[in-house]
Amino acid sequence: MKISIMGTGYVGLSTGVGFAVKGNDVICVDIDQKKVETINSGVSPMFEPHLDGHLKDALKKGKLKATTDVKGAIAETEVSFISVGTPSSEDGSIDLSFIESVARQIGEVLKNKKEYHVIVVKSTVVPGTTDGVVLRNIEKASGKKTGKDFGLCMNPEFLREGRAMDDFLKPDRIVIGESDKRAGNVIEKLYSNFMAPILRTDLKTAEMIKYASNAFLATKISYTNEMGNICKKLGIDVNEVMKGVGMDHRISPHFLKAGVGYGGSCFPKDVEALIWKARELSYEPKLLEEVHRLNDRQKVMIVEQLEKKIPNLKGKTICLLGLAFKPDSDDIREASSIYIIERLLQKGAKVKAYDPKAMEHMRKIHPSVDYMKSAREALENSDACIVVTEWDEFKKLTDADFSKMKSKVILEGRRILDRTKVSKFEGICW
Ligand code: NAD
Repeated sequence: MKISIMGTGYVGLSTGVGFAVKGNDVICVDIDQKKVETINSGVSPMFEPHLDGHLKDALKKGKLKATTDVKGAIAETEVSFISVGTPSSEDGSIDLSFIESVARQIGEVLKNKKEYHVIVVKSTVVPGTTDGVVLRNIEKASGKKTGKDFGLCMNPEFLREGRAMDDFLKPDRIVIGESDKRAGNVIEKLYSNFMAPILRTDLKTAEMIKYASNAFLATKISYTNEMGNICKKLGIDVNEVMKGVGMDHRISPHFLKAGVGYGGSCFPKDVEALIWKARELSYEPKLLEEVHRLNDRQKVMIVEQLEKKIPNLKGKTICLLGLAFKPDSDDIREASSIYIIERLLQKGAKVKAYDPKAMEHMRKIHPSVDYMKSAREALENSDACIVVTEWDEFKKLTDADFSKMKSKVILEGRRILDRTKVSKFEGICW
């Protein structure tokens, strides 16, 4: 099938490359000329394991190209995915300006297109958006009717950064929300060579499935952190507890790891957007509010622990190992590290940091941090160290790596250090 993808971020590019791997002809569209050039040169603008290899292969086979030309891309294809960003506004509600603008652009091109076209929203949008803002803008700009001249679908994406290609190519399920059967049939056909169950729904239900999934996963994390905080006071190992809990098939062992909270471009903003939407409908979502509050507290709790060991942080050098919100990613959006650094700087500490992939992004937010070339270099002469991201290379750290620290205060937020290799450290919940 011939597909265009509007927006080539983490989701758009993984989707585009994934569909090319599955044999489709893909045109990736972005407003960022530099991103487009980088993609066409065979390099992914963001770090994502296996993406570069598949991208190079797709370009070589002529199955994918990137462009800034929306008009040409829509004219040449049968299906267009919208995968632009849906960030949080100041008040926590969803900012739909990118969605609105791309829907208008698509409508303007559809005005002069004779053939039937299906538009699919892949971005995470609050229930009612596809049927509302998207549909209205396309119909207004094109002068055409949904269900007759074009079809509209909502196909939420569940991939995880760091495993985007694998998740996209082998999803647990494919959800297709549809304006009408014809549109849904086109998208079901597109996914026919994926080995995953397909669930067809209306547009709003598909939108809500994404929010309900993310809110549930965020709840699991905040719940586990709460158990961890209680376990620590009781002198019980939360890891052992959650291992026992996760053996119950009704619960599952996933997302039961205590730590310094969730971050990234999805959970924080999606939970906030759902809270905001519920309030708009005069419903107070108490559970979600608490999930969100607990996570905010968890992100900086480790600084309070540090102050128990070093009461005055002024002038002290604190080393952060890991900045990305998760390993195998260079994404720092809403990462716990941002807030930990902020707190440390407010208290007058000097911060040194090392992350294998995310330092350039963090430099833009916290330019006063000293970014080092290795964990060992970052640890040298530090008064304390906080491990924030569970990169594999931190698993290999030994006492020798920490030996050049000024004082051996080691706190860890992700349960990554190996007790057989590092003799003394304390975890956030253990
Ligand atoms: P991103 O910010 O990485 O990428 C968005 C891209 O859209 C950018 O490259 C931007 O230049 C481009 N863009 C903006 N306006 C455009 C326009 N008019 N035409 C063409 N391109 C345009 O975002 P992302 O992380 O890929 O997320 C995209 C959506 O997918 C969001 O709604 C997000 O919530 C959802 N999502 C993200 C993930 C994830 O892990 N990142 C997972 C599932 C769902």
